[in-house]
Amino acid sequence: MANTTKNTQNQDQDIITLRCSRCGKPITPEEAIQTPTGYRCEDCVKQQQKIFDTSQPLDFVWGLIIATIVSFLGSLIASFIGFFTVLIAPAAGVAAAEIVRWVTQKRRSKRLFKAVSAGVILGGLPLIIFELFQIFQWFSVGSFSLFSFLPLTYRIIYLILAVPAAHYRISGRRR
Ligand SMILES: [Zn+2]
Repeated sequence: MANTTKNTQNQDQDIITLRCSRCGKPITPEEAIQTPTGYRCEDCVKQQQKIFDTSQPLDFVWGLIIATIVSFLGSLIASFIGFFTVLIAPAAGVAAAEIVRWVTQKRRSKRLFKAVSAGVILGGLPLIIFELFQIFQWFSVGSFSLFSFLPLTYRIIYLILAVPAAHYRISGRRR
């Protein structure tokens, strides 16, 4: 009788236990990381990511510089078209990512993705600082209204849209 109970328990456990699809190690649902080829343990996923990290040191430099320049140009264009920033910003982000992918020959690493995101932010900052300065000037000469915030708002929207667009494109999470 005791034996039967034990067997049932074992069976239940087998059903619940997840196994890593790579090394076969039992993993809890909390530890399990879903991948296209099934659940994996944390160790295997980390190892896999190391293999995918194919970037070279110069890639980060190029990633940062290119993303900064493209983002700055994009923010310049966006500054002339007001509302249509919502169209230009994602396009600028994608363009930055695509040029970086081309220059780095599609090498990948998390640090490169971060460098590109940082570059897009850096590229958008000069105009944000410029707009802040403008607001300050308008304020000091008394020609200040709520509309004075509009250009700054567009510059910020630009970053909010361009940064994720660049990141998704370079990291390949959306293709
Ligand atoms: Zn594993």
